[in-house]
Amino acid sequence: MDYCLFVSDLHLCDSRPQITRAFISFLEKTASKAHALYILGDLFEYWAGDDSIATGTHQAIIQSLKLLTSKGVSVFFMHGNRDFLIGDDFAKATGIKILPDPSLVTLYGKPVLLSHGDALCTDDIAYQKFRSEVRNASWKTQFLNRPLKERVAYIEQLRARSEQEKSTKSMLTMDVNLQAVDNILREFKFPPLFIHGHTHRPNKHHHNIDGNVSERWVLGDWYEQGSYLTLSASGCHSHLL
Ligand code: MN
Repeated sequence: MDYCLFVSDLHLCDSRPQITRAFISFLEKTASKAHALYILGDLFEYWAGDDSIATGTHQAIIQSLKLLTSKGVSVFFMHGNRDFLIGDDFAKATGIKILPDPSLVTLYGKPVLLSHGDALCTDDIAYQKFRSEVRNASWKTQFLNRPLKERVAYIEQLRARSEQEKSTKSMLTMDVNLQAVDNILREFKFPPLFIHGHTHRPNKHHHNIDGNVSERWVLGDWYEQGSYLTLSASGCHSHLL
């Protein structure tokens, strides 16, 4: 059957090797039969820069992605808030294509809007301020010019602080803002499907804006168990591993 796959928020890291194994097995058994795989951000717990490839970081995942793309499966990647430093060298090593966030694609004759989702969390003002700082080209160039070790240490520090802050932020603040969802659906002319991740709240929502109905599918994370969406001519379906 012809279908596309969607995943996000795998947060792959050395401390949860079973999730890395589950993802590699997903690539071999499920993704290899798909027409395309869309990874909508936060593939890694963090990514300090493409020069980490040479140090052997996440080698097994890079090889598995390479194997998949060499078999002819298209793999698309969109930056998450954890791995927005993935760049052209990673794309070359794996054969993936990097998509801008957001992107509108046409699949099975339907416009489908794709995003990581963090840009929709507009109630978290401190995060949006941080996001606009680190996503600009000069910040990235400056940061990537620092030694890899220093970058890793900086990111580790940020992660510890964000874990701490999470416990004080309300559940609402960390979810998408519904006005921001309406705005993006309006901007992209009401695509019938909108797929994103980031919030770790897998669900299917309906939005009715000015008489236009859009289905919004939120992807799940891979902390405890892997999950993914399939899209084919018969529609969108969610699956647990
Ligand atoms: Mn995220």
